Amino acid sequence: MITETTEVRSILTRTTGYLRTVCSHSLQPYRGCPFGASLCGVGCYVRHNVYVTQGRDWGSFLEVRANAAEAYRKAFDRERRWARERQEGFVIFLSSATEPFPPGEARHGVTRSVLSAMLDQPPDGLIVQTHSHHVAGALDLLRPLAQRCDLRVHVSIETDRDRLPGLPPPASSVERRFAAAASLKGAGLRVVITVSPLLPIADPEAFFARVAGAADAVVLDHFIGGDGSALGARTLKTALPTAMAAVAPGSIELAYRDRMAAVAERFLPGRVGVGPDGFAGRWVASAQKTRRLDAERGAPEGIALPREPADF
Ligand code: SF4
Repeated sequence: MITETTEVRSILTRTTGYLRTVCSHSLQPYRGCPFGASLCGVGCYVRHNVYVTQGRDWGSFLEVRANAAEAYRKAFDRERRWARERQEGFVIFLSSATEPFPPGEARHGVTRSVLSAMLDQPPDGLIVQTHSHHVAGALDLLRPLAQRCDLRVHVSIETDRDRLPGLPPPASSVERRFAAAASLKGAGLRVVITVSPLLPIADPEAFFARVAGAADAVVLDHFIGGDGSALGARTLKTALPTAMAAVAPGSIELAYRDRMAAVAERFLPGRVGVGPDGFAGRWVASAQKTRRLDAERGAPEGIALPREPADF
């Protein structure tokens, strides 16, 4: 992998598209992602973004944004004012197009420097989104930050399997990510498991029971509707759907997400979110909507009916 150090003029990106109702800004301490050649990289929507890749293979490069913290400090007043005038506060998603805790973070420390800057100049809300168990190593910064802003740590665990046929393993094992989530939750942080994109789950009951023990809420997202293209067209061009279908043919249909959401709801009642609503922390609203839809369809109290795409 080619690693280079760069400087950026701005680090806070005003959100559009999928994240528009989730947060006011995204922040990428790195450009590129070392996890691009691992399991999550196969279906990663960023690999299709030519602005980011500039023709390079996804997972083959990492740009270290050495002045990210300085850029954050400089932009803080202006971007917070903009966000508060237009949105529901200055809420940052860290990160949507890279892994904030890649292996090199121990050496480069860019994410840590940004979190330190946020301790001095906190946003209104911060969503830390990671595929790495190394997030637990930032507890010394995350815990005081949780006192200064509305902080959620999102740990992506897309399935209970460490391998799908023909695909590379995850960069951080399922076990290690569950352990990181549990340790952060045990330390008093609000933790959300993001099952995104949802991959075939071998034992849904055991998986969501485990999620309920390691996190405060869960978010499910399917590549259909979740990869930024109509009907999952981007992901359908990758090896991911074939591997998913080889394990569980129904998992490449949107109805699979709805079946898994119904299982999740039994273990985390009122704490299941779907798609952007879930990423925004609107899981209670999602659950209420789910129950209303069930009632309208004549389901007995406490029984979840299979969802339809239009429900979300
Ligand atoms: S960690 Fe995130 S940005 Fe990196 S390859 Fe995986 S999904 Fe993409």
